[in-house]
Amino acid sequence: MLNKSSKLYSILKYKCPRCHEGDLYTHKGWSYTKFSRMYKSCPRCQQSFEPEPGFYYGAMYVSYALTTALTITILVAMSVLLDETTMTSFLGSLVLALLLFYPFIFRMSRAIWINFFVHYKKDAASSSAPEART
Ligand SMILES: [Zn+2]
Repeated sequence: MLNKSSKLYSILKYKCPRCHEGDLYTHKGWSYTKFSRMYKSCPRCQQSFEPEPGFYYGAMYVSYALTTALTITILVAMSVLLDETTMTSFLGSLVLALLLFYPFIFRMSRAIWINFFVHYKKDAASSSAPEART
């Protein structure tokens, strides 16, 4: 079980990094049309989810790391499971996996990025005054 006060909980459950109760995204599940919709601020503690304009540009670096991890995973899996791995089959599998996991990578990148800057505060949901970003 995940400890509710850990950053991993906030990241994996897509919860507010400050109170770990409010949702980051308006839609749950695997929707290709609505996966990117976020609340402007936490529905529980009012923490802003876009502390400054262009805040999530930095999430591209996280996305790059996640995509690299996915690429290496596919390459290792194909070389272990298949007798022969061609460049065409690898690139085809990679494109397919990136299309399939795009919403997951997008959401996870933003959740990780905001967790770098906003930290957990135990009773944030009960005291609704927003706190300045640290
Ligand atoms: Zn919150």
